[in-house]
Amino acid sequence: PERATRVRNLIVDVPDFPSPGILFKDITPLLADAQGLADVIEAFTRLALADGRGGTGGIDVVAGMEARGFLLGTPVAHALGLGFLPLRKAGKLPPPTERVSYDLEYGSAAIELRSGTLTPGARVLIIDDVLATGGTAAAAAQLVEQCGGVVAGLAFLLELETLHGRDRLARYNVDTLLRVG
Ligand code: IMP
Repeated sequence: PERATRVRNLIVDVPDFPSPGILFKDITPLLADAQGLADVIEAFTRLALADGRGGTGGIDVVAGMEARGFLLGTPVAHALGLGFLPLRKAGKLPPPTERVSYDLEYGSAAIELRSGTLTPGARVLIIDDVLATGGTAAAAAQLVEQCGGVVAGLAFLLELETLHGRDRLARYNVDTLLRVG
């Protein structure tokens, strides 16, 4: 089958996880599949090289959100011949760090980047697995900017269109490999 169909078939719907009423998209089977993993990394890499991003000339470094953004972002960075910046959950990195807090449906969360790892002015491609409400991605973009970086774009494996996360990222180039509505 076509690549998009192969990838789509390897993402599993899990009802009522992590809480009742939530339909969780699990990419574990996709990561476990040699062809599926290759398909996804190649698709991200092609996107990064496509017009509009200016090729890798337009991207200096890849960043990814803990934890699945690490799994996808690091191989993409390597394929592009670039480095990778982990955007970590608060409290995991040794100081000094830069931090951005953001609201969740219940409570709040924070992400951090190790100070000094992002070269000021660097153009950053941010990668994560799922774009849901867009809160995590908006915080990631804010963190990159707070550290003096430029958000070249954000790329996701899967967009949950009904949650309109894209609207919160209207200022940025946003690409998604698959969409479910
Ligand atoms: P948002 O902040 O609401 O857009 O949620 C996006 C973050 O939550 C990403 O880091 C995703 O990894 C995670 N996430 C949200 N929904 C799902 C899902 O259905 N499957 C896997 N991860 C999800």
